[in-house]
Amino acid sequence: MEPYEVYALKYADHPNRPAANNFISHDDHDGTMPIDYFVWLIKQASRHWIVDTGFSRQAGESRGRRFLACPGDTLKAMGVDPEGISDVIITHMHYDHCGNHHLFGDARFHLQDREIAYATGRCMCFKSMREAYDEEDVVTMVRRVHRGKAVFHDGDEEIAAGLSLHRIGGHTMGLQSLRIHTRKGWLVLASDAAHLYAHMEQSRPFPIVYNVADMLEGHQRLYGLASSPDLVIPGHDPLVMKKYPAPSPELEGRVVRLD
Ligand SMILES: [Zn+2]
Ligand SMILES: [Zn+2]
Repeated sequence: MEPYEVYALKYADHPNRPAANNFISHDDHDGTMPIDYFVWLIKQASRHWIVDTGFSRQAGESRGRRFLACPGDTLKAMGVDPEGISDVIITHMHYDHCGNHHLFGDARFHLQDREIAYATGRCMCFKSMREAYDEEDVVTMVRRVHRGKAVFHDGDEEIAAGLSLHRIGGHTMGLQSLRIHTRKGWLVLASDAAHLYAHMEQSRPFPIVYNVADMLEGHQRLYGLASSPDLVIPGHDPLVMKKYPAPSPELEGRVVRLD
């Protein structure tokens, strides 16, 4: 089986984020703990998969995030035409993972049954459950379903040889992580099943959560899916940009290669 290449594209960050926003139990004196925002590119020969679509400048700045680069422009800088992408995997529908629909107008979006049920159902009556969703993104996803451009998955599913989806739940009802065959072994893109390395390593929950037990069990599942613990890539950790190399000098600070 041909191994996949996997890239993390940083498009925004939140430099002054209080550490208290990242953990359920925290010390008020913990200070700041920044996070980064990514979309991911998976590549095998001429085939490309995009994982998550990020937010737009306007959507990010309205929430106080620092927008660095449109994911579509970074893809173009990598020689990938966003309009030519046929398949996008949405790990979950939070605003920082499911915006910018216009960049991938014709693509099929892969998501879990339970994620769209969650994002359009009774849990959204509660502000604390809905506030990480963007109403426009949710409505746009529903329209995409009605255009025949959504593909639903239920639980764990292999969508191509060496590329599988795994529902983890926890953070949202239908969050899915990815397991990818690479030259280093099985690599796992956790997305928000683990925001930071610290969540997995210290078994601590992130405060935006649907089910705490599923989130903590999920950390262990991520480790179980990967060939080694360092092949689990968290969804928002700034260490990712430090640990991995840029694929070329022009992409320094914007893209790292994970495999
Ligand atoms: Zn999330
Ligand atoms: Zn997120």
